[in-house]
Amino acid sequence: MHDKTISQLATALRDGEFSSVELTRHFLDRIGQHQDLNAFVSVDEENALAAAAAADEKLASGNADPMTGIPVAQKDIFCTEGLRTTCGSKMLENFIPPYNATVIEKFIAAGAVTLGKTNMDEFAMGSSNETSYFGPVKNPWDHKAVPGGSSGGSAAAVAARLAPIATGTDTGGSIRQPAALCGITGIKPSYGRVSRYGMIAFASSLDQGGSMAQTAEDAAIMLNVMAGFDERDSTSLAIDKPDFSASLNDDIAGLKIGLPKEFFEDGLNADVARVVENAIDEYKKLDAELVDISLPNSKLAVPCYYVLAPAEASSNLSRYDGVRYGYRAPEYDDLEDMYKKTRAQGFGAEVKRRIMIGTYALSSGYYDAYYMKAQKLRRLIADDFDRAFEQCDVIMGPTAPSTAFNAGEKTDDPVQMYLNDIYTIPVNLAGLPAMSVPAGFGNDGRPVGLHIIGQYLNESRLLNVAHQFQRVTDWHSKTPEGY
Ligand code: GLN
Repeated sequence: MHDKTISQLATALRDGEFSSVELTRHFLDRIGQHQDLNAFVSVDEENALAAAAAADEKLASGNADPMTGIPVAQKDIFCTEGLRTTCGSKMLENFIPPYNATVIEKFIAAGAVTLGKTNMDEFAMGSSNETSYFGPVKNPWDHKAVPGGSSGGSAAAVAARLAPIATGTDTGGSIRQPAALCGITGIKPSYGRVSRYGMIAFASSLDQGGSMAQTAEDAAIMLNVMAGFDERDSTSLAIDKPDFSASLNDDIAGLKIGLPKEFFEDGLNADVARVVENAIDEYKKLDAELVDISLPNSKLAVPCYYVLAPAEASSNLSRYDGVRYGYRAPEYDDLEDMYKKTRAQGFGAEVKRRIMIGTYALSSGYYDAYYMKAQKLRRLIADDFDRAFEQCDVIMGPTAPSTAFNAGEKTDDPVQMYLNDIYTIPVNLAGLPAMSVPAGFGNDGRPVGLHIIGQYLNESRLLNVAHQFQRVTDWHSKTPEGY
């Protein structure tokens, strides 16, 4: 059962091959067997089985939707009513939200079954899942390797087939980079496509929820559920949502693929370059055209992001003060001391580093030099993409500069860690949609992702381009040994 995609599972459920309760039980058992991966922070057996039973009734009545009875793992950044939501932090270790995020509401309305909440870097800050208060996640392809981050639990869960699909969020690469490192398919939609209501905020102008799945076809089915206008999120786009599955089979002959020279320069591992070049050759066989392009400001994206994202984070995280909800230090002298001790004890090192950088960048006297400057760079980076898309339909390159690195390898050097997102971050700054698609393996046997960047709001084209690749390759259906 666990090797099936959700489009196959939906057919099997409708044909009565097995029930949603049986399917859910199967995944719950797998989660139990593979606890050493540490992919889940919370598992909700009782409610999962109840939701599955309700789905079975709906299936029996013949009114099933594509998501009816499908088990899904939710990143622990989405608020779930009555189910602990930690965001990977001690600060929210015991937080039980009184409401559901819009994304969660939509999955419930579509008849999906929530298996549990997946592990993640604390407040989504990280590229290796090593900043989680709940411990690191292992990469199912090689337990010595990190799964990527911050949606590392979701990526590991899908790769190990502990869940057929999972949600993720992507502020600077957190869907695409772990998808690449774990050999699965992930899409970050255009900014504003998916509601951020009830999605715990890191950097609000960059955060975007999206899908993590085996295939582009499944990612499209998920996006059909997740996307759409939400008046409770002021940056949600009030536009019609297409059927993201409708154009998967469109012909891509004549597709113009832009190859930015900056994405193939120094810093890119030769092994990853080889796999990505082979993937691009597959597109040539499908009659796509290659166009050399340049994104000259993309090298400024990482420093630009590491001013803007911490600035927004320092403001967003000021709400964790020990007063309203979340952790409160057990002992303190007065109110001010309570704030200080609560935040000192409740946040981990990376989160504190970001709050300090962000507070500094926003302080009077430095604001113009850092924050304003970074905002201007952000515009230049977005303009580069606009110019590039005059010459091509999609942009391709590697998702990450290397395959999964070993746990502990970059924890002492934050700059090295930050550079793992060098190709993904420009996309968030420009608000564009992008995917990572399994494209092969490095000599170390660890997966490599092909990064495909689309034009603003053109997720349908992106999914189409990815799906056509998956029709002629089988990298997406490979599973790690032992799973
Ligand atoms: N790794 C990046 C960071 O640490 C991106 C994280 C994300 O997309 N949430 O900020």
